[in-house]
Amino acid sequence: MDPYYEARVRRVNDAPERTDGCYVLYWMQIYRRLDHNHALDYALHQAKELNKPLVVYEGLKLSYPWASERLHRFILEGMQDNAAAAKKIGLNYWPFVETPHDSGRGLLRRLAADACLVVTDDFPCFIIPQQTAALARHTDTPVVAVDGNSIVPMANLGAPVSAAAHLRLRLHRAFADAWPRRAAAKPRFAETVPRRVTPPFRPWQAEDLTRFLAKLPLDRSVPSVPGKRGGSAAARTQLRAFLRRRFRGYAEERSPPMPPDEGHASGLSPYLHFGHISIEEVVQSALRAAGADGRRGLNPELAGKREGFYGDDPDLNSFLDEAITWRDVGMHWMWHRQADVSQLDSALPPWALATLRKHETDPRPLLYSLEEWEAGQTHDPLWNAAQRELVATGTIHNYLRMLWGKKVIEWSKSPDEAYGVLVHLNNKYALDGRNPNSYSGILWCFGLFDRPWGPERPVFGTVRYMSSENTARKFRLGEYYEYIESLPTIAEVRGT
Ligand SMILES: Cc1cc2nc3c(=O)[nH]c(=O)nc-3n(C[C@H](O)[C@H](O)[C@H](O)COP(=O)(O)OP(=O)(O)OC[C@H]3O[C@@H](n4cnc5c(N)ncnc54)[C@H](O)[C@@H]3O)c2cc1C
Repeated sequence: MDPYYEARVRRVNDAPERTDGCYVLYWMQIYRRLDHNHALDYALHQAKELNKPLVVYEGLKLSYPWASERLHRFILEGMQDNAAAAKKIGLNYWPFVETPHDSGRGLLRRLAADACLVVTDDFPCFIIPQQTAALARHTDTPVVAVDGNSIVPMANLGAPVSAAAHLRLRLHRAFADAWPRRAAAKPRFAETVPRRVTPPFRPWQAEDLTRFLAKLPLDRSVPSVPGKRGGSAAARTQLRAFLRRRFRGYAEERSPPMPPDEGHASGLSPYLHFGHISIEEVVQSALRAAGADGRRGLNPELAGKREGFYGDDPDLNSFLDEAITWRDVGMHWMWHRQADVSQLDSALPPWALATLRKHETDPRPLLYSLEEWEAGQTHDPLWNAAQRELVATGTIHNYLRMLWGKKVIEWSKSPDEAYGVLVHLNNKYALDGRNPNSYSGILWCFGLFDRPWGPERPVFGTVRYMSSENTARKFRLGEYYEYIESLPTIAEVRGT
């Protein structure tokens, strides 16, 4: 195998090689798709080598943190798409969804026991690392985790960085090598043993998702978002609509808060988070839309610069700087920390921690409780609007997301309390939450990947400050407020 590719592969246990298993199992935990998927490519490769069929297992339990109807529906819609795609190509795709009548206890271990090898996603966040480690501990079958997080393997990106600028340079230098080695757009399922394997359980099937979801004990105060479908088909529709209508203008116009259909952001982060679309496909489509191909047209002399590296198109460069540099900054940071984000003390750079601690006892102009934050009941109409967008739609405008985070710091008793509130709200309501970029984004508000800014202020010290008044001066917010007014209120959404 290509040594470059090996950089993605990690043996999780030291169970000896097995050839007596019935299949190679790909346990799809987060990159929930059947194309452009490094872990799936690796599983296919191993199945071919071992002359065994491939089985893809995609599970959904009821008890993951922040489980809700919203997250469940989005994931299940993805599973419906995967089931349809697998049927077309004759792939052994085994979806399992926990219900009150069938907990699926021990199922994965049973599937692993019959496998020659278990391959899974090496995602550095949420419950995934612990789930992977737990299976690896309890099975005699080798477990291998594959880093399919981005275009350049995390292992090739070197030590952690303190600023995006440092990783940008490494990413640019590695891009030309990594791009031709991206995951297969069309994995060659036909080249593995095409044997049907009978699952030892009844794979999930639900024609009517609404009825199915109604039977599950889920948090209904975070309901599904009308019109926001999960799955690979919806992800592609979102990508196409973005490239056709909103990509032009991205460099200049992404920041002003606008209704999502009129602003220039892609709205792809929920799909990237659940793996319904790959970063490779997003980047490839953006390159194509800009008339580039990721090889010719690169400007290596501009490596490390925000503009110009991917070609002469400013919208392309700006979009890829977010989708590659900034997304990977969070991924790479989490990769090296492996879930050590439970508290500010271990998550923040020393300068940010010191200045926040110095100002920890400064009087706060106002204080809100979690319930008030959650209900969008602050004195600040812009903060409340951003919170309403988050609760009603599961997304939040990027610029306002920064302001939203900063204000929670300003109006909370302590930075630690603010951090807890932000992690809770973001991960509970945001479709793209529970991701490395959730933590890097929230912690950016506390100074991570930023630098000290003067003048030193109460509460923030030298951590960058943002204000709603400046935001209102900087942008015309009329259309955004109109859009927010068109959404159900937070009380309506939460049924309170
Ligand atoms: C307080 C706070 C919380 C955040 N929580 C999350 C989160 O839970 N999940 C999440 O994916 N991002 C999070 N971000 C980063 C950023 O806000 C979102 O990635 C972005 O708004 C997603 O919208 P989009 O897909 O339309 O982005 P686009 O502008 O279209 O960008 C394309 C892609 O690039 C990546 N990207 C863009 N901006 C950033 C950024 N600043 N940091 C990292 N990656 C970026 C995303 O994958 C995004 O889908 C957070 C930022 C802040 C300040």
